Amino acid sequence: MDRRQVIKGGTAAVLTVWASPLLQAAQRTDTGVRKLTNTIAVVDGGGSNIIALSSADGTVLVDTGAPDTAGRVMAALKELGGNTTVHTVFNTHYHLAQTGNNGAFAAAGAKIVAHDRTRQWMSVDHWVPDQDRYEKARPKSAWPTEVFFNTGTQRIGGEQVDYGYLLVAHTAGDIYVYFRDANVLAVGDVASPVNDPELDWITGAWIGGRVSAMDRLLKIGNEQTRVVPGSGPVMTWAEFKAERELMEVVRQRLFKQIRQGDGPQDMVDGGVLKGLARTWKDPHKFLYAAARGLWGNHNKLDPDVV
Ligand SMILES: [Zn+2]
Repeated sequence: MDRRQVIKGGTAAVLTVWASPLLQAAQRTDTGVRKLTNTIAVVDGGGSNIIALSSADGTVLVDTGAPDTAGRVMAALKELGGNTTVHTVFNTHYHLAQTGNNGAFAAAGAKIVAHDRTRQWMSVDHWVPDQDRYEKARPKSAWPTEVFFNTGTQRIGGEQVDYGYLLVAHTAGDIYVYFRDANVLAVGDVASPVNDPELDWITGAWIGGRVSAMDRLLKIGNEQTRVVPGSGPVMTWAEFKAERELMEVVRQRLFKQIRQGDGPQDMVDGGVLKGLARTWKDPHKFLYAAARGLWGNHNKLDPDVV
């Protein structure tokens, strides 16, 4: 999710995402609710996806949406029915589009589970390179209240909920959340079917991390798994696999270019993203971030054996 879209209130992102024909086929109601099972739904969080698991004990959320959309999100949860008290929130990563309403749900009593690195990035002022400015630390009331480092599992609302770390795939602290019984896998912005894939390189994310994380996810789910990305339509397993294959092609091409000493503009000019099954809205922005990430991981680039 592009931070700039979030700052504009998510309007542009909503229009882009909801205009997708794929999504129109996904049986979305007027309030932005897409039911996946009797108890699990995807709710619009202002252009980003929130997953809600409802049970008699209360509601579990994966991500809380863009800032100032809490009222809308609560209205959507009420539409789902059941006990709408949110007792547990998972944050897939620290970006505002995913954590914007953390404070509101925490104030109402929810515990917020995230990777330790997500709490770190939310708790310090940090540089936003593509906007040339500092982002202030989030108020403590919005920080995760329960952090983990590798994996965890909880039995909540009649579901086995497994979660785990996806190392430097999109940010420093990405996680998946897998509702094993319903076979629904939340992957945050580690999959990006509509918006350009984003590598938050300042936190350590890079293209190699992204492909490795997708490989890890492919071992967790199966052919029937439905994948919920950070924004855009719910993906089939085949669609998720196709995005992984495409990112692997991009990774290989970028490794080659970077070994030849190319910078982002050289890569744009050389057509490194040409001939792929998808097009980028802003190739230079993606390639700049990819190049920074590659230089940060230059010791992992395979030697060019002649
Ligand atoms: Zn993000």
